[in-house]
Amino acid sequence: MDLGISGKRALVCAASKGLGYACAKALAQAGAHLVIVARNEAPLREAAARLRLAGGSVIEAVAADITTAEGREAALAAAASLPGSTYGAYDILITNAGGPPAGDFRDWDETVWQQALGANMLTPIALMRATLDGMMSRGWGRVVNITSTAVKAPSPYLGLSNGARSGLTGFVAGLARQVAASGVTINNLLPGTFDTDRLKSNLQAGADQAGLELQPYMAKRIDAIPTRRFGNADELGATCAFLCSQHAAYITAQNVLIDGGAYPGTM
Ligand code: NAP
Repeated sequence: MDLGISGKRALVCAASKGLGYACAKALAQAGAHLVIVARNEAPLREAAARLRLAGGSVIEAVAADITTAEGREAALAAAASLPGSTYGAYDILITNAGGPPAGDFRDWDETVWQQALGANMLTPIALMRATLDGMMSRGWGRVVNITSTAVKAPSPYLGLSNGARSGLTGFVAGLARQVAASGVTINNLLPGTFDTDRLKSNLQAGADQAGLELQPYMAKRIDAIPTRRFGNADELGATCAFLCSQHAAYITAQNVLIDGGAYPGTM
């Protein structure tokens, strides 16, 4: 299927590996020009080189911490290196960052909470604030925020994630309807359990909290997913690219679960 986004300019945050990279790959395969961001330069450059093999689009890499004002500034400035673009003039924005640490609510003081809110709520909001007016003035835009199934089914050991991402979700529910008439959609993508490096550390934290060895804990987790497997990042990437496509113009303000059926609700 032609997604109709060839030549669109996209900023994909936290994209040297895992879910962010998978989104970048699917967008590059659809012909979008990309700026990808991650903190560590060497893996980021390797990721950019792999993405260039995916198609004829321009791929720029910005080594920066997207949760800082300086990092966001660098990511916004890099839009000018894409064809036909200027500072901050992205058509597509994929927000993503490392998730907050797992742990016990007693250990999370105000500083820890500020970090989680900064990374998983305020950073996406700042990036939308910087890019939405441009999208609206051009009459076309797509924002996909990678959040978590935790906003629908909170995880007991990921309280920082449950809280920060729910705050973003509430904000987006209002904002998406405010910008929809200008041809801009904003949706959240809610991953369940995907086989990435992040998952490995979360599984260990979950096993520790449940008092189980890693292997039996993993088997228990897989057994709780109707598809009986963890997700593949490319499956999330393809869904992200579809939400950015011309075909998804009538989908906005949605929280799209991609979890192998793990969430047990009817809706
Ligand atoms: P991952 O495989 O560990 O990849 C994380 C990516 O983000 C890397 O490219 C990393 O590169 C980059 N990154 C991290 N912090 C950054 C920062 N401050 N600034 C710029 N780049 C940053 O993780 P993942 O599994 O793809 O998870 C991505 C997000 O989805 C996380 O917020 C996670 O909590 C959430 N999520 C994941 C799952 C899952 O099952 N995997 C489920 C629900 C939610 P550098 O380290 O070089 O910066």
